[in-house]
Amino acid sequence: MWQPDEAADPVRLAHAWMRAVAAVTFVPGPRRRARDLLESFTVRLADALAEAPFDAEAGYRVGEELVDARLADPAVLAETLRILTPGLLRIGGLAAGDSGGRTGGPRVRPGHAASRPDDAAGAGAGDGLVAERVGALLGRLAAGFTETLRERGADATETLRRALETRRRREEAGIQRRLKNALLYDPLTGLPNRSKLLDGLRSVATGAPPGERVGLCLLDIARFSAVTDTMGHERGDELLRLCAQKLRAVAHRHHYYLHHLGDDRFAAVITGSTGPNDLIKAADLLLRALPDPFVADGHAMPITGRVGIAETTAADVIPAGLLRSATIALGWAIRDDAGPIAVFDPDRGRTDIRRHELTAAMPGALEDGQFLLHYQPLVDLLDHRVAGVEALARWRLPVTGLVPPEQFIHLAEHTGLIHKLGLRLLEDACAAGVRWQRSGVFVSVNLSPVQLADPGLVATVAAALDRTGLPPSRLQLELTGSDTLTGSGALRGLADLGVRIAIDDFGTGRSSLAHLAELPVTGVKLAPRFLRTLDDPTLLAGVIRLCHDLGITVTAEGVETDAQASALRRLACDLGQGFRFARPSPPEDITRMLA
Ligand code: C2E
Ligand code: MG
Ligand code: MG
Repeated sequence: MWQPDEAADPVRLAHAWMRAVAAVTFVPGPRRRARDLLESFTVRLADALAEAPFDAEAGYRVGEELVDARLADPAVLAETLRILTPGLLRIGGLAAGDSGGRTGGPRVRPGHAASRPDDAAGAGAGDGLVAERVGALLGRLAAGFTETLRERGADATETLRRALETRRRREEAGIQRRLKNALLYDPLTGLPNRSKLLDGLRSVATGAPPGERVGLCLLDIARFSAVTDTMGHERGDELLRLCAQKLRAVAHRHHYYLHHLGDDRFAAVITGSTGPNDLIKAADLLLRALPDPFVADGHAMPITGRVGIAETTAADVIPAGLLRSATIALGWAIRDDAGPIAVFDPDRGRTDIRRHELTAAMPGALEDGQFLLHYQPLVDLLDHRVAGVEALARWRLPVTGLVPPEQFIHLAEHTGLIHKLGLRLLEDACAAGVRWQRSGVFVSVNLSPVQLADPGLVATVAAALDRTGLPPSRLQLELTGSDTLTGSGALRGLADLGVRIAIDDFGTGRSSLAHLAELPVTGVKLAPRFLRTLDDPTLLAGVIRLCHDLGITVTAEGVETDAQASALRRLACDLGQGFRFARPSPPEDITRMLA
């Protein structure tokens, strides 16, 4: 017998319809002919569903033709409605879409409108539209069937008509009920779905005492796709049904309202808690309930989950907002190593949003020339002369102003824009270096590890020097993490160009003295934390001596006081950089300072 979760394919639906009809009535003529006929009807109905403008009369004509084909038994109509209601909903993409499209959205035979008729109308309203169309088509089909039957069967008695009418009404009520279920419940697990969750939250927002706490635990099965990939979709469905069953038991015991939002995602609404701690406990209970391991076909798959939590008071519940917050927290729980449960924190949420905004704005900003450089002097500790300047990236946003590099460099690394951005900044810095050439300063440019991994880096740097005319000895490149640099071919290539190479943030963990001797390095920039060891300078003195033995220049970063500057000078540290000497400033200020 056809199941509502069979493929949304008109041909398979027609076959299911045929089986159901044959089970309740005598099918005249060759079976094959009847099947072809039902197939063509199904295709026509499926087409009508997606047709613009929509015309429910297609349904009426199918009803007529059913009777004409002598499939005129009232039981045929009943079976027709029973089979076609869920079938057409799926073809319309409704049930499949509602379950999150785990199978990749509506499956419609090639040649049929592959998109849902209501795509433009947006998910919530659109689901209603599909359902409305299916209802209208099948309503007209029933009318076509009964009216034709009455016309054709001149001998049909009034009693038969009434019986048919009653049956039709009952079926119509059934259709309505099933439509509603399809709209509000997940077809796989039978649990209320996302629409029902939002409905429920709306009622809580208006119905619960304003001060009552309302929480949402959003649970995601980790690596669910690994189960479907290795065991197949049927096993995946089985796992989801099993999860639903286990979670439902916990929810029932503790009065949580459990929902299945599609795919491997479940949500529990918890009211009347005393705050986030209660919700963390609830999340823990839900996670423990998961069927771990999941055993099928002789394989045991470990099953774990992650939970994102959001909570507020009933008066403050905005249903979609609460769901979004829980989804963001779930993202944290999935990505961070801090444990399987994360509670939404509005401050962190704002940071995330800002990050997304900045990421999106970056390519346009690069075109607009919103990235620029400030420069900070590197000062000789003996005579306080400026020996070099470090180029530090800034992003001037039209309204909010300067954004520091800590907020955007890692985003640019993540999206790969760092290559284009880095090149632009390198050329700017080289051009500035040419302008300041008479003062004998070098420009020091930061390179991110992502840039260093670019096989074209050496050629890029050579081209920038060429284009601007800056002598290589006047360019210093700052690299971080000496531990990861030993195998870098790029480093050798850069050194061969004749540029200076400095290890930045030396002493912050990813750099060690042991590697210094192996690297073609000309300078080391000590991280500001070294300044905190000045009370007992033996360590610092040792580092500086070793560097000097290797012919490496030492710059101390973050020098803020006279005392630090003098202590560093006594230790024979070469250069100092920090607010004690100058803050990072626009190039015009540097030009003035050098003059
Ligand atoms: P960094 O290369 O270690 O740069 C030094 C940072 O310390 C700069 O921050 C500078 O403004 C700050 N600083 C300088 N003197 C003092 C001081 O006396 N006290 C304190 N507390 N801070 C001081 P900034 O400009 O925010 O840059 C931060 C980091 O961003 C840089 O650290 C560098 O790693 C990265 N960065 C900056 N520009 C670029 C760039 O063009 N490309 C790449 N890949 N990274 C860059
Ligand atoms: Mg630096
Ligand atoms: Mg540094």
